[in-house]
Amino acid sequence: MKNLISIVIGIIVLLVGARWYMQQSAAKEAFDKHEALIAETNECLDMAEWNCAEKNVRALLKESPDDQNLQLHLAGILYEQERYEECIAYIQSRNFTNADFDFLKQKSESLIREMQELQLERSMHFRVEFEGRPARKDIMEALAVLEVAYDSLCHLFDFRPENKMHLVLYESSQYQGVGPRPEWVGAVFDGKLRIPVNVMAYREIYRPMFFHELTHAFVRAMTRYHVPLWVNEGIAQVIDASRTENPRPEGAAPSVGALTTPFVNENSTAVAVKLYWYSQAMVERLLARNSSLIHFRDFIQNMRALGDEPALQKFYGVTTQQLLDEVR
Ligand SMILES: [Zn+2]
Repeated sequence: MKNLISIVIGIIVLLVGARWYMQQSAAKEAFDKHEALIAETNECLDMAEWNCAEKNVRALLKESPDDQNLQLHLAGILYEQERYEECIAYIQSRNFTNADFDFLKQKSESLIREMQELQLERSMHFRVEFEGRPARKDIMEALAVLEVAYDSLCHLFDFRPENKMHLVLYESSQYQGVGPRPEWVGAVFDGKLRIPVNVMAYREIYRPMFFHELTHAFVRAMTRYHVPLWVNEGIAQVIDASRTENPRPEGAAPSVGALTTPFVNENSTAVAVKLYWYSQAMVERLLARNSSLIHFRDFIQNMRALGDEPALQKFYGVTTQQLLDEVR
């Protein structure tokens, strides 16, 4: 009898324990899932991957519908996707009263008004903003050229970006986006394509400029990763074709380190010219091994998971140092 009782107690303890364990692991699994969702959301927001960000923020809002931070993110995502009417409607429907929501609502309203005043349709692949008062003719021409360049790049890399690209057309040649930049940078891609619309008067300048910056935008859309700078600048120059056949700059070759850090921090034109030249020459050496840009796309898309050097080894059987030695 005593034995039977201890067996029964033993079984009960076991069952309770198993149940507790299962509850704990279910809770842990839910917690891990939630954490993974937050991590992915932050990454999508950082990389301006608005479709993914919207999907995730909506999922998080199901868990906590009154979280104002999430609500603000959703309004911001709608705004960033050029869905200005939806953004305004969302803010109005919730009666949000907070400076950040007001800002998004006013900005959306003024962008709708601007597009109407300029008699502009929404562009297929670009979400356009203006700085200053660019002429309608220049805007239309810039957008037409950009659409053509966009189609060429989709074809070359066999890749269609999921999100519209954020384009800032600005008027002043002085304006250089965020912070002071050296004068040799005319257009930049810093998450947004910033194009000085004044260049529309100079066809020989704007075509390579658009192809160059758009390539950077594609590289980011393809990878969501900061590829080494020589890879990024190299491919952008190969595509824009404006410096091809330039002679090698005088002096010693730059170091691998210098070729991997951001060039825009470079204030000396001579050093910058050198870094750009070596970047292009090194990417040309890659393409001499395999000329397919689809293979190149696979290469940069694998850098994140494999690591930069292992990806280089796997796709082209070479190291950064070897490439540099080949072109110096
Ligand atoms: Zn560049």
